[in-house]
Amino acid sequence: MGKLKIQNLKKSFDSTNIIDNLSLTVEDGEFVSILGPSGSGKSTLFHLIGGLYSPEEGRIVLDGKEINGKRGFISYMPQAPSLFPWRTVIDNVILGQELSGKPDKEKALQLIDRAGLKGFEQSFPHELSGGMKQRVAFIRALLSPQPLICLDEPFSALDEFTRLEMQKWLLSIWEEHPRSVLFVTHNIEEALFLSDRVIVLSHRPATIRSEFKVPFSRPRDESIVLSEEFLQ
Ligand code: ADP
Ligand code: MG
Repeated sequence: MGKLKIQNLKKSFDSTNIIDNLSLTVEDGEFVSILGPSGSGKSTLFHLIGGLYSPEEGRIVLDGKEINGKRGFISYMPQAPSLFPWRTVIDNVILGQELSGKPDKEKALQLIDRAGLKGFEQSFPHELSGGMKQRVAFIRALLSPQPLICLDEPFSALDEFTRLEMQKWLLSIWEEHPRSVLFVTHNIEEALFLSDRVIVLSHRPATIRSEFKVPFSRPRDESIVLSEEFLQ
């Protein structure tokens, strides 16, 4: 599950071709990073995969099913994720699992704890800092039932040490809940640190400039609990 196949994708805005003839695959359980300069169309690609936009040409197939223009088939964490302001932290997390019909509250509480947010389960988003809200959105995305998670530059606003902690935290959770991941970043070190394979996009129109397997294995660091020291 979680095998994504994108074929000959095309998308323009106001007659400017942003994505052109883009084809890529993500294998079941693979962690693939997409690198590219600002404005190269990375977020647009995620909007297409998430069904928020429809492509002009091409196909997006997840586990054999065409999902062009359809929402809800992937777990998508946008560049600026938002929480439901009227729901508590735990309810925001569980919301991502409602599709499956059986939210795992125990697991959600465990991950909230491991995100350094113990004691905030019943808090509302306005009571949290920006960094705390991002962690909640992260847990929601990681626990949702879809077989593919798309993460759009989740760490780009963080300082280097916080970023490293968050990366290790993400990997430790992902290894417990292995699924396919598409991870957008403009940071080559981050892509190498996290992924099995890296795809580099060219700038306008976005098409694949290069693609390579990461020749070393990911660091393993079991059961990371984020400390409050790194909360921003
Ligand atoms: P990236 O995420 O790689 O920084 P984006 O996908 O956000 O790039 O944007 C790619 C290009 O498409 C940019 O030039 C941006 O201005 C343009 N763009 C993105 N969304 C829209 C939209 N809804 N309408 C018009 N232009 C858009
Ligand atoms: Mg973007």
